[in-house]
Amino acid sequence: MEVNLSTRRGLARAITRVESRRTDHQAEARKLLSSVMSETGKSQRIGITGVPGVGKSTFIDAFGTMLTEMGHKVAVLAVDPTSQRSGGSILGDKTRMARLSVDEKAFVRPSPAGETLGGVARKTRESLLLCEAAGYDVILVETVGVGQSETVVANMVDFFLVLMLPNAGDDLQGIKKGVLEVADLIAVNKADIDEKAAKRAQRHYQNALHILEPVDPSWSPPVLTCAGATGDGLKELWDTIELHKKKTEESGSRDKRRADQQLTWMNELIQDGLMAAFRSHPDVVAKLAAMKQGVETGAIPASAAAEQLLEAFGVEGF
Ligand code: GDP
Repeated sequence: MEVNLSTRRGLARAITRVESRRTDHQAEARKLLSSVMSETGKSQRIGITGVPGVGKSTFIDAFGTMLTEMGHKVAVLAVDPTSQRSGGSILGDKTRMARLSVDEKAFVRPSPAGETLGGVARKTRESLLLCEAAGYDVILVETVGVGQSETVVANMVDFFLVLMLPNAGDDLQGIKKGVLEVADLIAVNKADIDEKAAKRAQRHYQNALHILEPVDPSWSPPVLTCAGATGDGLKELWDTIELHKKKTEESGSRDKRRADQQLTWMNELIQDGLMAAFRSHPDVVAKLAAMKQGVETGAIPASAAAEQLLEAFGVEGF
């Protein structure tokens, strides 16, 4: 396939290859990715999460436009595991980002649909690399906090931004603890509605974060207030992301985070590949149903069934 990543159309076509289930398309996508690897890694990768209605699309539209006006090229990707059920993505939808979707210096792509979270994550990671090769220097990866999607996105970015509502500050129980653990910054959004409430929420989250041990010793996640609708606080937020880049580059934790992410990704791909090969191995297929039934009814110990199936796959003495 001829691809020209220098146009948005060319990039969109390349991503379509990455998303395709066809074996020949996947082989093409792998070849393409290998050929552009040296062009990747130069962007600022930012994950953004928040409950529906927190103002993500309004925020991304304003934040992304501010960045393109500053001279950046901005790509917006989405990780939405629910698109499998709804049949269409609610994230990354172009109508949600009116300005950015017609901005020459921006590229907006909805979540791949019809995939498990693992499948969406894999495709989004590969699309992210293609966007970098196409010269986008800021990549925003949007997600809603469904299941493990936040952790998955936090695992593919340099900086994870959590948007919160001002009135949620009074009830910290509503927040998943796991989200605070992966946040590099919490922004209390829609601060224009009620500044006092926003400041109160800011203090609440600051206290909550103080209790947690920072994951990275070179960065204590701050809490800011902002409003995507008015643009308030967006410049400060970007300055904070730049400061994080500087600090984590100096401490080496940025490179380490990326290296860890690559290794985790490789391991996941190996696991996926092994499971797929195992499930499609003819000797395993021949035995699997009977083994499952035996284990379910208690006739065969799980360990013995696993051993026999692994032997059928060619793994001895496991
Ligand atoms: P999403 O579901 O997280 O993408 O949220 P949206 O961006 O669609 O916003 C949900 C609603 O909140 C919309 O009606 C927006 O107009 C409104 N909204 C978003 N950001 C702000 C903000 O900063 N201030 C105010 N007052 N309203 C906002």
